[in-house]
Amino acid sequence: MIMTTNEESQQSDGPRRTLIDGPPPHYECSFCGKGREEVAHLIAGPQGVYICNECVALCNTILAEDEPPAET
Ligand SMILES: [Zn+2]
Repeated sequence: MIMTTNEESQQSDGPRRTLIDGPPPHYECSFCGKGREEVAHLIAGPQGVYICNECVALCNTILAEDEPPAET
């Protein structure tokens, strides 16, 4: 019985292990500072900035107040 093929398949199992091994780096909202665990969504922007769904909602509220109602 030769077990070499089995050992080789274990080595190629790398990508899935990295998810389990170390905890992911801590991400937090660049606006309110809440961590990824504290909000429902954390959206990544360019160059390491993040915004959470709560700040997006707040921005939407501000923009909606700022903009005159559409005339239809
Ligand atoms: Zn936020």
